[in-house]
Amino acid sequence: MEDNKYYYIQKNIYDTITDEDRQAMNRYCKGYMEFLTLAKTERIAVSYAAKLAEASGFVPYEPDMELKSGMRIYLNNRGKSMMFAVIGKRKLSEGVNIAAAHVDSPRLDLKPLPLYEEDGVAFLKTHYYGGIRKHQWVAIPLALYGVAVLGNGEKVEVAIGDSVDDPQFTITDLLPHLSAQQNKKVLSEAYTGESLNILFGSEPIGGEEKDRVKLHVLKILGRKYGITEEDFVSAEFEAVPAYKATELGLDRSLIGGYGQDDRVCVYACLQAIIEQGIPEKTAVCILADKEEIGSEGVTGMKSAAFERFMLDLCDSQDVKITHCYAKSFCLSADVCNGHDPNYPEVTEKRNAAHMNFGIGVMKYTGSKGKSGANDASAEVVGKLRQIYKKCAVSWQMAELGKVDQGGGGTVAMFMAERNIDTIDAGVPVLAMHAPFEVTSKADCYMAYKGIKAVFDNYL
Ligand code: MN
Ligand code: MN
Repeated sequence: MEDNKYYYIQKNIYDTITDEDRQAMNRYCKGYMEFLTLAKTERIAVSYAAKLAEASGFVPYEPDMELKSGMRIYLNNRGKSMMFAVIGKRKLSEGVNIAAAHVDSPRLDLKPLPLYEEDGVAFLKTHYYGGIRKHQWVAIPLALYGVAVLGNGEKVEVAIGDSVDDPQFTITDLLPHLSAQQNKKVLSEAYTGESLNILFGSEPIGGEEKDRVKLHVLKILGRKYGITEEDFVSAEFEAVPAYKATELGLDRSLIGGYGQDDRVCVYACLQAIIEQGIPEKTAVCILADKEEIGSEGVTGMKSAAFERFMLDLCDSQDVKITHCYAKSFCLSADVCNGHDPNYPEVTEKRNAAHMNFGIGVMKYTGSKGKSGANDASAEVVGKLRQIYKKCAVSWQMAELGKVDQGGGGTVAMFMAERNIDTIDAGVPVLAMHAPFEVTSKADCYMAYKGIKAVFDNYL
C-alpha cells in the first residue's frame, strides 16, 4: 500500500464528490443550461452579463473613478465584450488574477446582401464564422439573431426562431437517392461555403412583379422590424441552432447544446466574479469576442480595450501597468476536447481530458511542434496544482489531440504577450464546434470551482 504514493491515480469526480458539492453542481448546471439556451450570440451573452453585474453590485466603470478595495466595476465594450474587476486588498503593483473566456461561437453570419429568390424560393446567403464542419449545419432547425442599423440611424434587434410560435429556418440537404456524386467527394469539399443558403420563404405575393417571394419576406421584415433590403448592409445577423440546451444520457449526467465553446467557461467566469468577495489581489474577468476568428477586432483579446481598462485601474493607484502585468496571472478559461471513445484515433488517451475527470488544464495548445502555443511553465502548473488540491477542485491535464493530428489556439498567447503568466484550463467538450456540443455536468461545475479557487488563492 505504501508504494501507492508513487503513482498518480486520477479519479472520476463521481467517486469523490461530496453530497454538498453534488447538490451545488445540480443547481449550477440548471442555471448554466438556462444561460446557454438564452445566450445564443455574443451580444446576448454580454447583455446577460451586464444585467447580472448590475444586480450584483457592479457599477459601470468611468475613467478617473476613485477605486477602493472592495469596489466592483464593469466595462461593456460595444455590447460584445465585457470586463469586470473586484478591487482587492493589495495594490495593483502586486498584480491581478484574470479569468478570460470568449463569448463568440462558430455560426453562420448573413452576408451584407444576403436575400435572393431562385426558382420561386427565397434564400439568405451566409458566410460562416469560425471553424465549422459545413455538413453539420444542414438539415437542422436554425434561428436568426442580430441587430440592424436602419437608414435613419435607429438600431433594431431581431430574434426569430427560439420563442414559442416563432417560425424557424434551415439549410436543405441532398436526398440519399440523388447524392451519389456528392458522396464520392471528400467531406471537406462535399459542402461548399456558398451552398450554405438559408431557406427563407416560398409564398409569392402581388401579380406581375419580379421576385414575388422575396417581396413577401421583405414586406414581413418591413412591417415587423422596419427593415428594408438596403438595411441588411448595416446589420449583423447570425444564424444559430434553434434548440434548447438539454440534459443528455439516461442518467442526466451530460449537457447538450449549442455554443458551449466557450459559453460554458463564460458562465463559470461570470458566476465566479459575481460571487467574489474582497480578494487579496484584484480579480479581473474578461469575456472576449472574436476568439474563433483569431481574437481580432476592437472587441477581441488583441484589442487595446483591455489595456485601457487595466491602465485606468493602474493609474488610479499610481502603478505602472507593466509592473502590474509582470506579477499577474491569467487563467485562459477555454474548452478543451474530451477523449471520445467513438473517435479514439485522434487523441492520445493518457494525455487527453476524459469526461467527468474535471477541469482540463492545458499546458500548451498550438499545432505541430507546439507552434502558436502559450507553453505554461512548470512553476505555473505547479502553483495551480497546489491551489486545486487545497480547494478540492477535480482537474486533469489535457492536450488538444495527438501530436501532429491538428491543433488550435485560445486567447492565452495574447495574455502571455502582455507579460502575464498564463495557462489554459476549461471544460472538456465532445463534438466541439458542432451545432450540438456535449459537456459533463461534473466538469462544468469543477470549471467554476477552478476559477473561483484562482481568484482567492493565486497569490
Ligand atoms: Mn474556445
Ligand atoms: Mn472554438
